[in-house]
Amino acid sequence: MKTPVTSRSAIKTAFWISLVYIVFGAGWILFSDLALESTITDSVKLTRYQTYKGWFYVGITATLLFFLIYRAQMHVQGLYRRDPVTNLSRHYQFAAYLGQMLAQAKEQGKCVQLMYLDIDNFKAINSKLGFEGADGFLRTFAERLKASYLAEVLTARLGTDQFAVAVMSNQSTLQQERETQHLRECFHDAAARQNLDVTCCIGVAIAPNDASSGPELINAAQSALKAARQTGKGKVHLFNRALSKEENDRQALLEDLRATIASRSLSLVYQPQFDIAGARLTGVEVLVRWHHPRRGMVPPDKFIPLAEADNLISYISEFVVRRAAQELSEAGLLGTLIQRVSVNVSAKEFNTPQLMQLLTDSLRNAHQLAPYLQLEITETAALSNLPSSVVRMTKLKEHGIRFSIDDFGTGFTSLAMLKNLPIDEVKIDRLFVKDMQEHPKSQSIVAAISRMASDFGISVVAEGVETQSQLEQLALCGCQEVQGYLLAKPMAVQDLKVFVQALPQQPPQESAYSSYLG
Ligand code: C2E
Ligand code: MG
Ligand code: MG
Repeated sequence: MKTPVTSRSAIKTAFWISLVYIVFGAGWILFSDLALESTITDSVKLTRYQTYKGWFYVGITATLLFFLIYRAQMHVQGLYRRDPVTNLSRHYQFAAYLGQMLAQAKEQGKCVQLMYLDIDNFKAINSKLGFEGADGFLRTFAERLKASYLAEVLTARLGTDQFAVAVMSNQSTLQQERETQHLRECFHDAAARQNLDVTCCIGVAIAPNDASSGPELINAAQSALKAARQTGKGKVHLFNRALSKEENDRQALLEDLRATIASRSLSLVYQPQFDIAGARLTGVEVLVRWHHPRRGMVPPDKFIPLAEADNLISYISEFVVRRAAQELSEAGLLGTLIQRVSVNVSAKEFNTPQLMQLLTDSLRNAHQLAPYLQLEITETAALSNLPSSVVRMTKLKEHGIRFSIDDFGTGFTSLAMLKNLPIDEVKIDRLFVKDMQEHPKSQSIVAAISRMASDFGISVVAEGVETQSQLEQLALCGCQEVQGYLLAKPMAVQDLKVFVQALPQQPPQESAYSSYLG
């Protein structure tokens, strides 16, 4: 990072340049005169040569002066054009490029969507991290913007904690909402990288609907931002138009989710998993539940993606791990009747090192659960960067954590991933189980997965088993374990206790995963 220029250091630099100049100039006058006098004896010739020497000196100093002034001018202009902290455009450059983008959009019959972002309570970040740390966060966000937008997209820092992004888009409201969502995700990613719990407000204006020139568009986005900030933290506001119903619902749900997480009022259910041969209990999968006071039960498929997009997912995982450890050990089930506890980890969490670190910290705190823990990740999460997934998983496996690939077969699976990833289990997605009866090809896929997995020493669990005939077919395919409504639905811990105690007792098994998180 460049050292900031203070007036003291500027005076020091100027002083040294002047001193060098004085020494060089004095030396030149003294020695060049001496040299001329010792070589030229003719006084007319000597006067002429001294005049040439004077002109030469003026020429050199003028050239030097030219370059010094030119450099200083370029530096000042650069400061006008680019922000020295983030290297993003500043007002003047952004306004100029925005004008060009508007002209281009007009020619192509497109819109320009300007999103003006303001970080909520930036003062708190300054006091928490200090000015250098806060600048570091701004730089991380700027890097994230540069990495996730194409060169045609304009990005700028327009104030201490204000950024702007202008994209060319079509007239579709859906695409416009996606752009706003994408910007929020970039922001939350940067915050996650710095372990910061921080939100932002965004004002959105679209040309030509809301404005016809660059300055008008900037004004419109600024007033939308003002309106967003008046309604609270983490808000989006569209200029002059009510938010779409979908975005309104999203924001209301998100607000409720934040409150629910803060009051720790999510709850857990456990779905038992069984050995297909002897119907012996092999483990449980932990599933999170949200009973909303007005909306009723909100499915995880709806609120988990919301939590992922707004960086709340690690709070949910931390809650799930702690609560499961507490509930299962208080019920006296952990390590006795229940030997394996599977917890879902979202793709976003798995692929963000800082979030994985938070999860690892939660695992350390829930030490009674760690020896029995298995993390379920989806195959797309594991495949998004295979080499780094291998490193991350191997590290956690050293601490006794097992891994399962959830919803196996739904992503861009290559069976070869079974060879490369250090996994213990695959869970065949319930769509295959459902499809097996109508399509014999699905049955062949399940059989192939089971065969290959068992060759690699990986166990196979089929999920979503609802009928006896599915169970029989799975047994024929060589699948070892099952989970589904046929055998047990997800249930609260009290019901789980009654359920497992009523099962025919099996001799307690030695936990296969005995080492404890370091
Ligand atoms: P998943 O991990 O594949 O979980 C299995 C889902 O299948 C659960 O839905 C479960 O209730 C449902 N299920 C189990 N047996 C049957 C059956 O026989 N028939 C049918 N039709 N469904 C069955 P749920 O609880 O709604 O969870 C949905 C997804 O939400 C989960 O899919 C998982 O990806 C995610 N999820 C749930 N809890 C958590 C959590 O604590 N953290 C994270 N990151 N994701 C979670
Ligand atoms: Mg799962
Ligand atoms: Mg699944």
